[in-house]
Order: sequence, then structure tokens, then C-alpha cells
Amino acid sequence: KVRVRFAPSPTGPLHIGGVRTALFNYLFAKKNGGTFYLRIEDTDQNRFVPGAEEYIFNSLEWLGIAPDETVGKNELFGPYRQSERKHLYKQFADELVSNGFAYYAFDSPDNLENLRKEAEKEGKTFTYNWEVRSVLHNSFTLSKEEVKTKIANGDHYVIRFNMHDGTNDNALIQAQDLIRGEVNFNPALLDDKVLFKSDGMPTYHLANIVDDHLMETTHVIRGEEWLPSLPLHIKLYEAFGWKVPEFAHLPLILKPIGNGKLSKRDGDKLGFPVFPLQWNDKISNTSSKGYKDDGYFPEALVNFLALLGWNPGTEQELFTLEELTQAFDLNKVNKSGARFDPDKIKWFNQQYMQKRDNMVLAQEYQKIVKDKNIQIDTEKLARIISLIKERAVFVSDFWELSSYFFQAPTTYDPKAVGKQWKENTAVLMTDLQTILNNCDSFESSTTESIVKNWIADNNYAFGQIMAPLRLALVGELKGPHIFDIMESIGKEETINRIQNAIK
Ligand code: GLU
Repeated sequence: KVRVRFAPSPTGPLHIGGVRTALFNYLFAKKNGGTFYLRIEDTDQNRFVPGAEEYIFNSLEWLGIAPDETVGKNELFGPYRQSERKHLYKQFADELVSNGFAYYAFDSPDNLENLRKEAEKEGKTFTYNWEVRSVLHNSFTLSKEEVKTKIANGDHYVIRFNMHDGTNDNALIQAQDLIRGEVNFNPALLDDKVLFKSDGMPTYHLANIVDDHLMETTHVIRGEEWLPSLPLHIKLYEAFGWKVPEFAHLPLILKPIGNGKLSKRDGDKLGFPVFPLQWNDKISNTSSKGYKDDGYFPEALVNFLALLGWNPGTEQELFTLEELTQAFDLNKVNKSGARFDPDKIKWFNQQYMQKRDNMVLAQEYQKIVKDKNIQIDTEKLARIISLIKERAVFVSDFWELSSYFFQAPTTYDPKAVGKQWKENTAVLMTDLQTILNNCDSFESSTTESIVKNWIADNNYAFGQIMAPLRLALVGELKGPHIFDIMESIGKEETINRIQNAIK
């Protein structure tokens, strides 16, 4: 049975790339009738940020892709926070040491830093591997007794993975990736990664593999930045004698313009969020914008993110979460980076705006309208929204598109007036007032047929009446069907506005 996970580190707000990873895991799980769980990878205590964990839960919840299992929810394989699984990791590190797959190393951070600098001077990168092991302070150079004494004395140590023994150096390490196919790694370039630190904490590599195993993960779907860790992870599974899960590394998300990975700075520069929710950093007293708070609909963001690196192989662009689940296929995920286009999310938002229930939108719009001291019942507001939303991307666009429903125009577009308001217009508008005043019903279809008949009976040109009427009611030559506007503002207001325009 398929079990996949999203395993973020709570080091700050969840980046939009992380959301995409969560979404692909969610879709893959649902498509295969499997389980999507969320594990908090908080072993690096220096990078722990308060509130980040809650932010992750809230983001997935808002997007409708909450995990099946996580902290406080169906804890079948709990705990789901690595800091609470601390006691588990040491025994696994020890097991690797006693089987010769890992070893103790006592090199001080300062010493390693010096070696790094020296190598840099020579234009090389220092790699802690089989080549240098024998000249450093570790189980290869110290006797068993010395190692024991050092540990007993409380010396600083780490446990490193014995990645490669230096023999058969030319044989590439091969790995299978569901998106990339066969990927090859040169063992000469791989280092002996730290698995366990003397502060009692495992590193990401050890904790990740142990937990993916214990939590019965079948597929590891994660960002491309983890591809270089793949040979280590496979070797770790093999060293433990555990079944290796399937791997899929998702393509990078690229900047809207230029080269490289999408970063928060791109968002700041071009004015779009890179986070799902607003993030208030209490420590630095700064805040970052979020899609939710900027008025995006979760289904628009989900739809957009799903197409970031994946395509259905058809022209279809609009997908509900349910449809995405049906269509999703890891085989159709691209290897190459996916360009992030913030305008495209706006397009999606506009599409989902049209599908949104007008009563739901009206409840949101009420807040804006109330702030302007306007009292209107929600049903009436919903009707107005139905007339104008075609052009709206956000609820916050509604006012701009509909203010004339609430207040008479105070100015009239001078260019339109010059063209449309003729010498006899005032007389015609006065007659029109009379016609409208005699209407028993002000329903759009009724006034429409009465006015149109009146125009036809008098042999007026259509524009000769309709353009000035629109100017009088709206102030410009824009807006929806004029008779709908009249119905909404009512008879008295319609006649008053015409009167104002005549004056
Ligand atoms: N904790 C890692 C991260 O923050 C998880 C990587 C993985 O999925 O293996 O991205």
C-alpha cells in the first residue's frame, strides 16, 4: 500500500516550492488509494523557528491537502516530530558502527575548517572521504581503546558514514528515479556524511532514512535539491538491510525572469508572494505576504502549482483537486525546471472567481462595503457580484468595478460626454425620465422592453439614448447590462441620476 510523506523542517514559513512538493505527494497518495503523512523534521535545533510548524499545518489545511496522519492526527506511526523520536536514532547509528558501515570521528570543527580553507587556497574542495580519513582523527586512525576513552571523556565526536572504501573508484553508483530514470553518481566526489552528532541528535540523513523506514514509506517524492543525497540514502538503506523506497525528485521552480531558483527576493521585487499564508516574523519584526491574505483562492493556487512541473498531456488547464487526483501521474512530471509565472496564478484566480458561489463572495464583499458605511443585504450584493465578477481577479477588485451601484457618479468621463452628449440629449433624457417613471415594475427585462419600444416608436438611434443613459448612471461608458444596473439601483435612484446628468 502506498505511503508517502511530506517532511518539512520548521525553519520558517513554508515556501511555495515546499507546498508544491506536499501537493504532489498528496496527489500521488490519493491517486493510488494510499496515505499521505506529514513528518516534522526538527532535529536541527539551531534552525528551529517558533510558529513554523503551525504555519505548515495551517497552509495545507487552507489548500485542502491536509495529511491523513501527522502530529495529533491518526498517529499510527508516531510520534511525527523527529525531536520526539530522538531516543530511536542512536541505536541505529550504533548498529552501523558495529557493522563497519559507519565510524567515529573526533576532528574538531576548527580543524576541519582549516583543512577546508587550505584546500580552497589550492583551488580544491575539501572532502572528508576515504582519501583523507587515514590522516584525520577517527576510528581508522585510533585504536578501539582510544576511541572508547575519548567518548568516555566526553570529547566532541560525530558518527560518519563510510561512504566508499576507495577501491573500484571508477565504478559509478547507479540509482533509479521515477522522473529522471537512471541517475549516476561519481563515488570519488561523495563524502562521508555525518549521521549523528555528540549533542545526541541525528542529522537529517540518518533521521530521514530511519523514519522513512519505520513509518513504512513506499515512495519518497521531494525536491531536486535532494538528488545529490540519493546515493548516500540508498547506501544507508542497504547498510541497514532495508527495502529501498522508490524515489522521485521534482524539478526546480525557476525565477519568473532570469536564471536560477525562485527565491523570496524575486517575489519582493516583482510584488508577488512566495508563501501560501502571510508570515509575521516576531523576531525581526517583518512580515511576508501570502497568497491567502492577498485574496487568492486555494483552488487557484492548487491548480497553478499542480501544473508547475507536471502536465496532463492534454490542453486542459482547469482542474479541481478531485480531477487532479484522477489525472496525476509521476511519469508526466518534467525533469527540467518549471518557470514560475505570477501572472498565471492571477489568471487561475479569475477563472475560479467565475466558479465561486456569489453568496459566498457576497459575504466577503460585505466587509468592504460595510467599511464604506453602506448597508445592503447580502442577496442583493450577490446579484451585483454576478453582474461584475467577470472582470474581477480578486474580491478586492469588486469595489472599483461596482461602486456606481452604491453611489451616483460625481464626475462624467469628459471624452465620452464630448462625443455622446448632444444638444438634444437633455430633452431626450427628460422624456426618458417620464417613461421610466411610468414603469410599474423596474425589473431589468421590463424596463428593457419599454425603453426599446420607446426608442423604436420614435425612430431614435439606439446609441443616442443608451450612451447618455449609461453616462448618467455610471459616469463612464462601461459596466454590465444597463437595465440590470437600473434594476439594482431602483427607480428613484435611476431617475435622480438622470436628473443630475441633465443639470
Ligand atoms: N526535511 C527535509 C526538507 O526540509 C526533507 C527532505 C526529504 O523530503 O527527504 O526538505
